[in-house]
This record gives sequence, structure tokens and C-alpha cells, in this order.
Amino acid sequence: MSPSYRTADQYERWHKAHCARCGRFGCFAATWPDGKVCRTCHDRALRVRGRCPGCGDNRPLPGLRPVDHAPICADCAGFAVSYHCSRCGHEGKLHGRRLCTRCTFADELTDLLSDDTGRVRTELAPLAAHLLTMSSPLSGLCWLKHRKGRDRAPADLLAELGRGEIALTHEAFHTLAPWRAAAHLEELLMACGILPQVDKQICAFERWTIRHLASVTDPEHARLIKRFAAWDVAPRLRARAERNPLTVSSRRGFSDQITQATQFLGWLAEHDLELADCGQADIDAWHVEHNVHARTSIRGFLHWCIANKLTRRFRLPTVVIGPATPMPQQQRIDLLGRLLTEPDQPLRSRVAAAIVLLYAQPVSRIVRLTLDDVIADSDTVRLRLGDPPSPVPGPVAELLLSWIDQRTNMNTATNREARWLFPGRRAGQPIHPETLGALIKALGIPSTAGRVGALHQHVLELPAPVVADALGYHHKTTTRASTDWSRYASGPRARKPSGWTPRTRDR
Ligand SMILES: [Zn+2]
Ligand SMILES: [Zn+2]
Ligand SMILES: [Zn+2]
Repeated sequence: MSPSYRTADQYERWHKAHCARCGRFGCFAATWPDGKVCRTCHDRALRVRGRCPGCGDNRPLPGLRPVDHAPICADCAGFAVSYHCSRCGHEGKLHGRRLCTRCTFADELTDLLSDDTGRVRTELAPLAAHLLTMSSPLSGLCWLKHRKGRDRAPADLLAELGRGEIALTHEAFHTLAPWRAAAHLEELLMACGILPQVDKQICAFERWTIRHLASVTDPEHARLIKRFAAWDVAPRLRARAERNPLTVSSRRGFSDQITQATQFLGWLAEHDLELADCGQADIDAWHVEHNVHARTSIRGFLHWCIANKLTRRFRLPTVVIGPATPMPQQQRIDLLGRLLTEPDQPLRSRVAAAIVLLYAQPVSRIVRLTLDDVIADSDTVRLRLGDPPSPVPGPVAELLLSWIDQRTNMNTATNREARWLFPGRRAGQPIHPETLGALIKALGIPSTAGRVGALHQHVLELPAPVVADALGYHHKTTTRASTDWSRYASGPRARKPSGWTPRTRDR
């Protein structure tokens, strides 16, 4: 088709104008009674549906009533063209051959999924039906256009399905590239019942394993890892999925076992060792060189090797997963000091962070504190975190009381009556724990380490059950912290911190 213009000047005059709706200069899509409209305004106006204030009909309202610019229907606005689909009569945005979005999407799908007879392949009919009942045919159409013209766009994959070039099995989809498009299509096929339902994370795992095996250069290693993945890791993963839906992180844990096994074989090769020759000394040497995560991940593979007599028997060193590293006392005290002397930082964050550092409270509990939990007598301030309430040391008490004087969010009508120490934006709700957590983090306070640190410090000074009662912590948590602490205390770190320390006794 030759263009309908001869010069750039002509193009500008014939095809470009200022849009009557948004005022932008550019190509226009239609000429409506109120003027020329751009593509964006055209499509947006046709999406407006409702009762026409002119005639009372319920339909798209692309027109504008001249007096008040209220949206009105095409008839009331005096449109010269109709926006009814030439096939189904649905009124809305029209595509080629004056067809609505749904009819256009249906036609394109039929083209892609049909066999030689021109009809959708029988076994794919549920897929076509499923896609056509989607609430938004426009997003379906966009999906078909996605990456169009590039290698194996979604439309290309559908066409391959239509030609019967892709087997309707999970295995076929796991080897298919690009994997994101293949995964989406696999999920659609499960949703419409063409493929049996399988946990999404199992599919992701299978897909990952194929890619991983392709990256293993030594064919002997690849063969062994493939066996390990198929006969040991995959069955354990499936068994887990039968109990509970898998999470991304549990699936990654299984992938890590395969990665670690591959690296272990590489390590053996570097040391000129065969798996069969590997002895206790080599296993011990490997463990010395690797961190806790690697040691935990390798266990499955080593047990499998022993069970299958690929190696001789050996003893695996036990992996001790340590508690969260407590914050050193000096650091905790420095941070507290900083909170007290940095007036430029938001008061709310400083108060919340001080509670974390002093009393080992998780943010989810700090947000539940109310004004009634702050008990101010003539000369002491106490915070009710458990029974009895914990005394608040002087400087922190000042901070706390000035915060209560000027709590934010209080002048919003919704939260006027709230008694929360940290009110949120929503009526009657405290601040969201994540929001408060982020504020504390923004001050540079690592909340988990800070909490463990504070708990240890208390335990050092008082018997665990007393601390637990005072802070509302479950006895078990404090007893464990106390055991952990005795380990640290017996080491070189048993130094009492200098400077100010929190106390739960009245001074
Ligand atoms: Zn416009
Ligand atoms: Zn009307
Ligand atoms: Zn239609």
C-alpha cells in the first residue's frame, strides 16, 4: 500500500493535530464531534461505561456533552461512526475488520491453535475456551503481541502447539525456551486441565535442573548429578510438596543441594580424587574449607553416595547452626547513645529503636503498645511489656514522653481517639510493623541482632524467668538465650560492658 501522503509536510497536515481532549500535538485516531482525538484519549474514552445522562442507556460513553463535558453515548454526542462490533455487536474499541477486542482475540487464537482443517485442535479446545473467558481480552491480545517478531514469542509457542510440534507433557515444557513464556503456558495448560496439576515449584525445579545439567562440562559429573537429582532430590521434593505447597526458598534449598554436589565433584577433580577413592580425611578437609550453608547442602549428596556404595562409608561432621549473632554490648550502647543525642532524626523512629535496643522487643509487639502501657509516676517512667512493668532509664524516658506529646498522625480525623503509642494512618490501627521496622532500620539499627543482644544483656544480670516475666517473653526463649550467653560468657567475650547498662531494678 502506498502512503496517503507525499511529503512530510503533507503527513503533518493530514495526520497530525492538537488533540481536542488532552491538547497534545500528534497523530490522531478519529475525528469526533468535539474535535480530533489522539489514540490514548480515543481508547480511554471508549473504556468509560455507564448510564448515559442524555438517553439513560447503559453503554460506553465516549462523547462529551458540550455544556458540562459529562461523558455521553455516541448517539447522544452525534458520532458519525458506530463502535459496534461487525460480528457480535458489542460496543467498544474496534480493531481490524471492525471487530471488537474479544472477537479479534478469538480469531487470532484460532489462527494459532488450528490444525490443517482451520479449526482449533481438539485437544487444545479447553485452552482456547479458557483464554477466551478471561476477564480482559485486551490483556490476552497484548500477550499475543508480546515480543512479537522475536525468537519464540508467546504467539510462536502457541503456533507450535497448534502444529502439534510440542508434546502435551510437563517434560516437554520444562525443556522449552524461553523458560518464562514456557512456564506461563504450562500454568495455563494446567489451569484448563490439559496438563495434570503439579506444584509450580516442582516445575521450576525440573526446569532449573535441566539448565544446570547443561552447564556441567564434565560428562561423567553430569551423569552422576542427573542420577542424584532424579533418584534422590526430586522424590524428596515431591514428598515435601504432598504435605504442603512448596515455597520458593524451600525449592532453592533443594537446588542448592545439586549445585553443592556439582561443586563437590569439581573439588575432588581439582584434588585429583575420584569419588570412589574419597576417604574420611578428604571429607574432613572439604568440611574445613566450606561454610555452614555448603556443609548443610552437601549432606544429602554424601548420604546418597554412601547408600549407593559410590563411596566408602565415612562419618559426616555434625553441622551446628548457630543462633543469630548478638550485637556486641559496646555497639548496642553506642547506638543507644546516638539515638539519645541525634535530635535531627525522627522522634518516632528513635523511640521505637530505643525500645528494640533496651528491651529486646520485636516490632510486631512494639506496634501493639498503647499509652496505657506507659506508666509515669512523679519520678519514674515504666513501660508495661510484661509483669512487672520495666523501668525506663531517665534519658529514654524523656524521649518517650516527648514523643507521646507530639505523636504524628493524631490530627487526622480517623485516628483522633487512638490510644496506640505508634498510631497508623488507618482508622483505629497502629502503624504497620513493616513500616516501623523500616524506620528503625533507616536509623542503622539491625533489629534482630539488636534484640538478641539486649536479651543477652538482661540475662547476664538477672535470672532468666525474671527477665521473661518483665519483658513478656516466653520462658523458653530466655532460657535458650541464657544458655547461648553462658557459652559466650565463658569465652574471651565475658567482659562486662563499660558505660551505661539497662537495669530492671529501680535505681
Ligand atoms: Zn488526547
Ligand atoms: Zn445517550
Ligand atoms: Zn465482537
